[in-house]
Amino acid sequence: MEKTFLIATHNMKKRNELLRILEPLGIDVKTDEELGITLSDVEETGETFYENALLKAQSGCRESGLPCVADDSGLMVDYLAGAPGVYSARFAGEHGNDAKNNAKLLKLLKDVPEEERTARFVSVTCCAFPDGTVLTARGECVGKIGYEEIGEGGFGYDPVFMVNGKSFAEISDEEKDSLSHRGKSLAVLSQKLRELYV
Ligand code: IMP
Repeated sequence: MEKTFLIATHNMKKRNELLRILEPLGIDVKTDEELGITLSDVEETGETFYENALLKAQSGCRESGLPCVADDSGLMVDYLAGAPGVYSARFAGEHGNDAKNNAKLLKLLKDVPEEERTARFVSVTCCAFPDGTVLTARGECVGKIGYEEIGEGGFGYDPVFMVNGKSFAEISDEEKDSLSHRGKSLAVLSQKLRELYV
């Protein structure tokens, strides 16, 4: 089994989540920086999480010659007909501005009653191999959008995403891995990787 995999993300918190979950498989997970290369920025032109994850994984694999894992993820809010979805990172216009994204979401849901604030995080992970093999997995985590930002941890929409009465920004890494869309998606991907190499 090839033991070094590239992770195609510049989000260090996401990278650490991927690392925690893939390390037990004996996989040495590296970013492009750690490998001394610079991956081209992949434009996320897909209309689905799957298309974007595949674009990122295949591009990283092509450029590094290593198996490459990528994830595309986002938040789907029922009251907003599934928005922001694949546009989660740039919901308020500026890529990756978490504070603005959360403020926009809270404003749009300002007077919406609790029972209509249901939402889900979705993560699709892909692993692309140099021989053209692609493994893919999807995970979801259902919750509700709160009325204000709560907690200091996590990233992105974590402070407004509530599960079991707590926001994702209030829980430990381990708890998040066991509940989260990315944790679930990577658990399925890990299983597929195990099967591929047994
Ligand atoms: P991506 O990097 O293109 O997958 O964009 C994902 C965006 O969705 C991030 O910028 C966050 O805004 C949001 N997102 C995805 N996963 C999470 C999570 O676990 N917590 C909070 N926000 C998330």
